[in-house]
Amino acid sequence: MRIPLIDLRAQHAAIADELMAAVAKVVAEQSFILGARVAAFEQRLAEYVGVRHAVGVASCTDALRLALVALGIGPGDAVITTPFTFVASAEAIVRAGATPVFVDVDADSVHLSPERVAECIREWRGPERLRAILVVHLFGACADSKGLLELARTHGLFLVEDAAQALGAVRDGAAAGAVGHASAFSFFPAKTLGAWGDGGALVTADDAIAARVRRLRQHGVEGGRVMEIGENSRLDALHAAVLEVKLRHLEAWIAARRQGARRYRELLDGVPGVSFFDALDEGGTHNPYVVRIAEGRDRVLMSLRAQGIDARAYYDRPIPDEPAFASVRHHRAAIPEAEKRSRDALALPLCANLSTTAQQEVVDALRSAMAGR
Ligand SMILES: *Cc1c(COP(=O)(O)O)cnc(C)c1O
Repeated sequence: MRIPLIDLRAQHAAIADELMAAVAKVVAEQSFILGARVAAFEQRLAEYVGVRHAVGVASCTDALRLALVALGIGPGDAVITTPFTFVASAEAIVRAGATPVFVDVDADSVHLSPERVAECIREWRGPERLRAILVVHLFGACADSKGLLELARTHGLFLVEDAAQALGAVRDGAAAGAVGHASAFSFFPAKTLGAWGDGGALVTADDAIAARVRRLRQHGVEGGRVMEIGENSRLDALHAAVLEVKLRHLEAWIAARRQGARRYRELLDGVPGVSFFDALDEGGTHNPYVVRIAEGRDRVLMSLRAQGIDARAYYDRPIPDEPAFASVRHHRAAIPEAEKRSRDALALPLCANLSTTAQQEVVDALRSAMAGR
C-alpha cells in the first residue's frame, strides 16, 4: 500500500534513539518479567488516565476477561454489550463464562446509549442474571460513560469500559477508562499507544479488583503462595519500556491526529455521499479515523485499495452475525443501526505523521471512488 492505515515506521523513526536506549537498558538488566520497568509504566499510565491502579497484562482481551472475572462475573451471568465492535469485546464475556446480550448502537452513532441499554434492562426476563454493561469506546471516542455508570448504579450492575481504541479520549471532563468499575486498554501495535507486540492493561479505582488481577495474571500467586488458580498474562518488561517512552509522546500524537481529522473534514466537506459521525469529534483520538459512506461502501473500499490507499471496512459485520455465534449462547434484539454501520463505516489512513500531501491523495482517491460508485 502506498499510504498505510497507520505509518508505524515513520512513528518509530522519529523516536528510535529514545526507544532503543530504553530497550537496551532492559536487555542489559536481563530482567524481562514484571519488576521495576512494568511497575514504572503502570504508575505512569495510572497517572495519565487519572485512576488509582493500572495492571499490565498480555492483551486488552485478557484485561477485559480478567476484569469480568475479578468482578465475580461468570456462568449464569449476562453482560450487555454492543454488536458493533471488534470481536474481543464479546469474546471476553464468553471466555469469562457469561452470556453476551447485544443491544443496538444509537441511531446515527457508533456507541451504546444509556437510553437503549435502559430499555434492555427494563425488558430483561433472563434466565441469566444481568450483572454488567461492557461499553466500547469505538473509533477513539468515548461513549456516554457517565450516563451508563448512573444507569448501572441504579440497577446494581457493574460498568466495564473497553477503551482499547480510546486511550487519551475525553468526554464531559472524564477520560476514557476513568469512569467504570474496571477498564481495559490495548497496546496492540496499531493502537494509539502501541507496543512492539501484544500488550494490555486493566485500570481501576478499586483496590480489591487491582489486587485480584495482579494475582490472576501470575498464576494466582500472592505472598509466595498459590491462592487461586490463575494464569499467565503479564505485560513484558520490554514492552513496558517501549510504552513508557511512547507515552511521553502520546499527547502530541493525539493533537496531530485531531488536526488530521479536522483537515479531512474540511477537505471532504461537500463530497456527495460522504458524511461524518459527529460523536467522534467530541474529545476523540480518531483511532481509527472513520467516515460514513451513504451507499456502495464496499465498491468505494475496493477502489481506494486499488489506488494504493489502505482503507478498511471497520467493521463489516455485527458480532452476533459472525459464524461462531451460531453456536454460542447470546441474546440479541433487533440491531438495525449496527447493521447499517457495518455497511457504511469506512476507515481512512490517519496517523500523527501523515503528510498533507498524502492526506490530499487520500481525499482525491476518495472523491474519484465516490464519483465512480
Ligand atoms: C484492539 C481491540 C481489542 C483487543 O485488544 P488486544 O490487545 O489485541 O487484545 C478489544 N476491543 C477493541 C474495541 C479493540 O479495538
